[in-house]
Amino acid sequence: MKRVYNFSAGPSTMPEEVLKQAAEEMLCYKDSGQSVMEMSHRSPEFNEIITHAEELIREIMNVPDNYKVLFLQGGASTQFAAIPLNFMQKNRKADYIITGNWANKAYQEACKYGDCKIVANSKDKTYSYIPKTKREDFREDADYVYICYNNTIYGTLYPEIPDTGDIPLIADISSCILSEPLDISKFAMVYAGAQKNVAQSGLVIAIIREDMLGNAHPMCPTMLNYQVMAENDSLYNTPNCYGIYICMLVLEYIKKMGGLEEMQKRNIKKADLLYDYLDQSKLFNATVEKPDRSLMNVPFVTPNEELDKKFIAKCKENNIINIKGHRSVGGMRASIYNAMSYEGVEKLVEVMKEFEKENN
Ligand SMILES: *Cc1c(COP(=O)(O)O)cnc(C)c1O
Repeated sequence: MKRVYNFSAGPSTMPEEVLKQAAEEMLCYKDSGQSVMEMSHRSPEFNEIITHAEELIREIMNVPDNYKVLFLQGGASTQFAAIPLNFMQKNRKADYIITGNWANKAYQEACKYGDCKIVANSKDKTYSYIPKTKREDFREDADYVYICYNNTIYGTLYPEIPDTGDIPLIADISSCILSEPLDISKFAMVYAGAQKNVAQSGLVIAIIREDMLGNAHPMCPTMLNYQVMAENDSLYNTPNCYGIYICMLVLEYIKKMGGLEEMQKRNIKKADLLYDYLDQSKLFNATVEKPDRSLMNVPFVTPNEELDKKFIAKCKENNIINIKGHRSVGGMRASIYNAMSYEGVEKLVEVMKEFEKENN
């Protein structure tokens, strides 16, 4: 069977073991005589799946007891509106740090609902770094501060969680969830679209501190109201059942591998291999400043677009796909999520070395 090295930023490569298990159980989940896809979301079988998926998130991510874990729909982008509709309700103010397209889209959306302020911005250097902020930079009466923790397109990761004092901090962790341990207690909410490191697109995992709930705008659509979702254990309507099942399988796999410490160890090893090569290469260049480099998304360039194109073509010949940079930045980007093997990154570096030799 043909399997490529898929460096896509999302939807992205999945652990083969999980895909195999899902294939095995496609026609008959355990002894239910049905596929999970065919199952009532109110059935005892599915209840076990969603309950177990939540338990595993709590355990693996070390989620404190005063947080709700929700399975939502509409992808990460739907939360860009849901967040202000749920939380921008006391003073109608929110502060945003703009570190790339996703943070900017979230900001643009929130501007429809209240007074949003850009507190820091790294646009001046094409988002190649994370701006430093101090507690005093944020408005005291802001209802929340919003960040994008790992910037999928530009390849930056916050080297530390910004200090916002008592102001609730909300983070989009779509492209770094489950990649390394994260102190959830520092956040009022974290959320992630599943298609980078967990499951298929459409599904969102949201982890929300309970005291944040209950203040949604009266006009907030019911489907976007986090309190309604929490009261109904994510079963207000039919959830993305199959996505939640895949999520459970991936979490079981991560647990078996040794949890987030082990994921972090592996991810550092993979990222080091690639960054170390990039830093000594005379042809390829990493675009992000060292302290702010992502473990998950590694953008890089050659000296010109023509060589970029040629390199991407060479990758394809070597079974390496989706290595092209985001359309807004060009160059290349290797997304090396949990499910990308060390061997996959070795293969990429090998092809880069060859290309460098051929083109110097
Ligand atoms: C991919 C991504 C999104 C968008 O996710 P959708 O599920 O397509 O809406 C938002 N934020 C980040 C950080 C992402 O990587």
